[in-house]
Amino acid sequence: NTGRVLSIQSHTVQGYVGNKSAVFPLQLLGYDVDPINSVQFSNHTGYPTFKGQVLNGQQLLDLIEGLEANNLLYYTHLLTGYIGSVSFLKSVLEVVDKLRSINPNLTYVCDPVMGDEGKLYVPEDLVSVYREKVVPVASMLTPNQFEAELLTKLRIGSETDGRKACKILHAAGPSKVVITSINIDGNLLLIGSHQKDKKQAPEQFKIVIPRIPAYFTGTGDLMTALLLGWSNKYPDNLDKAAELAVSSLQALLQRTLNAYTSAGFDSKSSSLEIRLIQSQDDIRQPKLTFK
Ligand code: ADP
Ligand code: MG
Ligand code: MG
Repeated sequence: NTGRVLSIQSHTVQGYVGNKSAVFPLQLLGYDVDPINSVQFSNHTGYPTFKGQVLNGQQLLDLIEGLEANNLLYYTHLLTGYIGSVSFLKSVLEVVDKLRSINPNLTYVCDPVMGDEGKLYVPEDLVSVYREKVVPVASMLTPNQFEAELLTKLRIGSETDGRKACKILHAAGPSKVVITSINIDGNLLLIGSHQKDKKQAPEQFKIVIPRIPAYFTGTGDLMTALLLGWSNKYPDNLDKAAELAVSSLQALLQRTLNAYTSAGFDSKSSSLEIRLIQSQDDIRQPKLTFK
């Protein structure tokens, strides 16, 4: 089971975040991926400096118009990640409508990238647009703990809170929700939730992930891409899809950490560039070690 994905995310010349993190793994899983680069930067913004260009909402709509004029706007999936302004996010909402008018079954996988570990890294006025306009049209949502808190206005400090947050998000729109990590005493807890039937309680599950003491960039983008890829292959089995995604990701993170430590590099001192290309076998055929 495969598909055609329109992926609107950032691009870095060097290193792996946004589309650089998402396109290759989706292609490995057999998807046609058409990337639109919402920004093109020299490197990710965690470095001391960066240079580059930002696409505005009108320029996004121009690209969509070009595709539409040639009847090239049929997609099975739309994937969005980091979006830096309200005007761009509103253009994305127009793109959702346009794609759904061409394919009513379009799956919109939305990673509501807003911040991490208590810190917002987008303008504050984006939060309410995500909450009120974007969440209702998303098919699958993949917030981290902080983003799930912003969207639900619920403080999430336990597994129970996570499950409750998923229910609130289902009620707002998406039938699939994965909170990719909740930090609970040294471990990461993933909570998945699939509302198969509006009249019934969602099917929920958790995966405990041992926390690696390092900060990686681009992992959330990779995680959402893998969740799209696998949940489309196992449409009624979100827990299996999440296990496969986590399994690939953990193998990649371990490989990344090993590469840095064997080079004598202090992995706690700055964020690590993921070993994406070197992990292609783990992406194609994840070993199921996380249950
Ligand atoms: P985001 O990057 O959006 O904040 P997360 O922090 O939840 O998203 O990371 C996405 C996934 O990456 C997690 O589900 C987990 O599998 C993996 N991950 C990220 N950081 C770590 C870490 N330090 N140790 C182990 N796994 C990690
Ligand atoms: Mg995080
Ligand atoms: Mg994220």
